[in-house]
Amino acid sequence: MSKKVKRISLRILVFFGICVFLLSLTITPKQHAITQIVSSNIDEIDTLKYPGIKEAITSLKTAHPNWNFKILYTGLDWYDVIQNEYKGHHATPSNLIPANSNTYNNKWVCSICGLETYDTGSWICASESAIKYMMDIRNFLDDESIFQFLELTYTYYNYDQIQKMINGTYLNNNSVINAIIDSAKTYNVNPYYIIARLIQEQGKSGTELVNGHGYNGKYAGYYNAFNIGATGNTRADVVLNGLKRAYDEGWTSLASSIRGGTSIIAKNYIARGQNTLYLQKFDVENSDGSLYSHQYMQNLLAAKNEASKITKVVNELQTLDNSYNFLIPVYDNMPQFTATEPNLQYSQADDLVKVNVDGTLRIRNAPSGNQTIGWLNGGEIVSRIEKAQTKVNGTYWDKVRSNTGISGYVARETFENAQEYKLYLIPYEELEQEEQNNSSGKEESGDTGKSKNEGTGNAQGNEPGNAQGNAQENTQGNEPGNAQGNAQGSVKAGDVNNDGRISPTDYVLIKNHIMQIEILQEESQKKSADVNKDGKISPTDYVLIKNHIMFGTEI
Ligand SMILES: [Zn+2]
Repeated sequence: MSKKVKRISLRILVFFGICVFLLSLTITPKQHAITQIVSSNIDEIDTLKYPGIKEAITSLKTAHPNWNFKILYTGLDWYDVIQNEYKGHHATPSNLIPANSNTYNNKWVCSICGLETYDTGSWICASESAIKYMMDIRNFLDDESIFQFLELTYTYYNYDQIQKMINGTYLNNNSVINAIIDSAKTYNVNPYYIIARLIQEQGKSGTELVNGHGYNGKYAGYYNAFNIGATGNTRADVVLNGLKRAYDEGWTSLASSIRGGTSIIAKNYIARGQNTLYLQKFDVENSDGSLYSHQYMQNLLAAKNEASKITKVVNELQTLDNSYNFLIPVYDNMPQFTATEPNLQYSQADDLVKVNVDGTLRIRNAPSGNQTIGWLNGGEIVSRIEKAQTKVNGTYWDKVRSNTGISGYVARETFENAQEYKLYLIPYEELEQEEQNNSSGKEESGDTGKSKNEGTGNAQGNEPGNAQGNAQENTQGNEPGNAQGNAQGSVKAGDVNNDGRISPTDYVLIKNHIMQIEILQEESQKKSADVNKDGKISPTDYVLIKNHIMFGTEI
């Protein structure tokens, strides 16, 4: 290559480099320039796109006709949301849970940070599945947790309604009711939220911070209804610091402390459009032009805990059937099944499919998109996030997530003009039938073995439990295993965790084994996981358990 050519190619390279750089500059802000729509039309919610949302809201609305719902279409992809919330490891994690708590087992703990503590040592980083559980709105569309979606901005209530709410509490007097109404309007805060906070802080009959008598002979005539600045290690410290703050602020009546306190709460909490407890915790609302960055609390449980405090007040005041406005954010590409609580030991029942190709299957950026973002290997079992309902350019494009974490679109089946039909993504249920049909003749179609020519480097992960597993399991012999198991009485087919029953936990253990998420170690577990006793742990075993649980079929 001559020098001139070299120089030109260098220039071209630099030019392209600049282009890519400029392009990245123009693309980055776009990421946040998502159009978010709020709609109060519940009937219009697309049940395929947002599984489980419409059903849950409709049933709440039936139980509580005075409740109003709005949907915030965030336009955000569920997977992206979780990735963006699962950040800050070893530095400032976005989501923390209490350390040394019996409530939160190791499934709640971040696998990257482990037990590393944060924030004065009393917090640890939350796991991805804990974040999924806490962010999956479908877990909280019930009477107990719904108040994390209560709109905290101003909602109209008249004097009588407010008086009814606070009847029998320390707040029931004319000047206080007017203070609540005025400050709610002035500072754009939901008056019910003000009341709930006031009861939450002071109880129904009030404490030393609101009776005007002062404490230990100090600060008589001062009031601090919201406990602002009331901190300390002893009860006396707490009360005196709270009253000192009232003195500094000049809150000389209950009404003036409510006005002053509401302005502080509004400033701290309700600005920026994040006007529900959920949105204050999870910044998935972009009216301020940013996402994920303005969270008010790192505590993953904050929205839920705050909401249950409101619920407690709601029950105390018997106001559950009042009129409330709830704002429910929804995400794109949410899995069909709601994320389960990490404590329950089994992860969400994903829609699992097996990649039925010789070689590899292209992952694209969009349905029929022209950008290749990754590959699936034949035989690989992956989770399907979204099953396409309509064809684009001649086939269905399902959204999947590969085991290496790439989400994108792949062709579910051959294009409609193809000579021969082939299903590329086979659901587990159908796989079972196929395996049974095949069992008389050949073993399994030749997915494995042929796929190495693509050289993507993933070939080793192809078929975990089949060819290899077969040989291994057979040499150990499944017959003796059964005899042993029966004699001991401890190995029961299907009861993988040996808790005496066959439950979803068992099928998830098998699923995780097959997907190599968590390999079964104990021989007894492997034996009970091989439900049909064919010497291997395969999707068939998983399906047998599932059918047993769902339809009561024999195992
Ligand atoms: Zn972490």
